[in-house]
Amino acid sequence: MATSSAIQRGSLAPLSSVTHTTAVVEESRCFSAVARKSKPAKFSNYGHGMQKLTFSSLLGGGQRSLGQGFRNPEQQEPRKAGSEIVAQAVSTRFNRKARRAENVEGDFFVDHTCIDCDTCRWMAPETFSHLNGQSAVHRQPQTPDERTRALQALLACPTASIRTETPPKDIKDAQNTFPLAIDPETLPGVYHSGYHSENSYGATSYFVHRPERGNILIDSPRFTEVLAKRIEQMGGVRYMFLTHQDDVADHAKWAARFGCERIIHEDDVRSSTRDVERKLEGSGPWTLDEEVELIHTPGHTAGCVSLFYKPHKALFTGDHLAYSRRQEGLSIFRGVNWYSVSKQIDSVRKLIPLDFLWLLPGHGRRYHFESEADRREKLEELVAQES
Ligand code: SF4
Ligand SMILES: [Zn+2]
Repeated sequence: MATSSAIQRGSLAPLSSVTHTTAVVEESRCFSAVARKSKPAKFSNYGHGMQKLTFSSLLGGGQRSLGQGFRNPEQQEPRKAGSEIVAQAVSTRFNRKARRAENVEGDFFVDHTCIDCDTCRWMAPETFSHLNGQSAVHRQPQTPDERTRALQALLACPTASIRTETPPKDIKDAQNTFPLAIDPETLPGVYHSGYHSENSYGATSYFVHRPERGNILIDSPRFTEVLAKRIEQMGGVRYMFLTHQDDVADHAKWAARFGCERIIHEDDVRSSTRDVERKLEGSGPWTLDEEVELIHTPGHTAGCVSLFYKPHKALFTGDHLAYSRRQEGLSIFRGVNWYSVSKQIDSVRKLIPLDFLWLLPGHGRRYHFESEADRREKLEELVAQES
């Protein structure tokens, strides 16, 4: 596999050389979480008999907090006026779990707690769409495959906002599909973890299956023993790579469960990540092993790092770079830049020669470039447009 000229120019520092600094800075105010009360479950038991399955436990269980300050970088609508917010609050105050009027009739629906993270819309676009600022069911699933995708979205939803009128008896089958293969043909061994966490603003987590060298969990899904057992069957987790400060969610629980080594850049260490095992210093790149390079891509935050998985030309970018469906092209989502737009553009420029074809972000949509020329052209276009 060819190595990018950017990497060839840099000095490769083995991870063993990084220090375990205890530097801790204030949590990001922009993404500060506001915990709210737990939501009532519509169904307390699905009647599987083996255990008491609450709606919450089926979704991954554990502590759930609601309504953080997250804003989907793709949000199109202006913020609501104060009077509109008050009116909505009054009308939904006691029934945030009620079915939104925008849903079509039928079993599946989205309630008012949706944080508009976009996950269900890319997981099951035939069922969910964006209507009046949140997701809604625009068409009920028509086929077994569509139903499976709708249930997968229900399980992945970070706020348990997707629900059904009747208990889904096939929910366990849907649970057993995670982690989800992304594209077995061009991306074998790379999975979508599912179970998005509201504590990472609904960001996507990935699982890279590498029986020989050790599996990697990229950013943190919501911790659930259901997913942990599935991952355990696939060999557990050796490394947990955290792209940046925003998408760390339940990292401590995953580390406790698998005894994995967590990796984050020291510039993105916060109070909740001060105990992470490995902290990257400087500007890298760093090498995990011959298959994996870590590339410093500052801009969205100072310590953003992308993971380059060379065997299948996949680049995991966190919130540095993604495909935007609204913009119909690549985007750096300037509206959610917490550090430096100019540095983020420089970091995109740095990726132009890197030999990747898959772009796998935390927020925004994934993208598969047709060719190296296509990647170069699209990245160059983005740099020109944003500069
Ligand atoms: S996954 Fe949940 S929170 Fe995200 S857009 Fe869909 S319903 Fe809303
Ligand atoms: Zn972020």
